[in-house]
Amino acid sequence: MVEIKYVKWGLANNFGDTIELNKHLPKYPNLHYRILQHELHHDFKKKTTWKDLKHDIKSFATYDKERLIFFTTHPSAWVQLFPIWYSKERGIIIDDACLIMWAVILLVDIIITILAVKWWF
Ligand SMILES: [Zn+2]
Repeated sequence: MVEIKYVKWGLANNFGDTIELNKHLPKYPNLHYRILQHELHHDFKKKTTWKDLKHDIKSFATYDKERLIFFTTHPSAWVQLFPIWYSKERGIIIDDACLIMWAVILLVDIIITILAVKWWF
């Protein structure tokens, strides 16, 4: 059985045995449902799997107006965008999927910058 806990930070995380959701989510029933469905579709393993990664990238790339509103009205959810963060209960948390997404964004940024500089000068 998986335990569902409401916490102050982030949007939602699946830790294998526990799903942590932002405590403000129940105020947005539709979004709450979608987020919970997303978390339930993760592999319930300690390590991030390829399936997890694909699942997160798909969600990340999907436009969700309600999620955007939630992020702008609840800055505590921004923690979700950090690849590495700290919680008193769990210590240092590394979000592999988030880390990979930032690495890809950074890489694309560097490539665009190099190409722009080459063509400009
Ligand atoms: Zn996810």
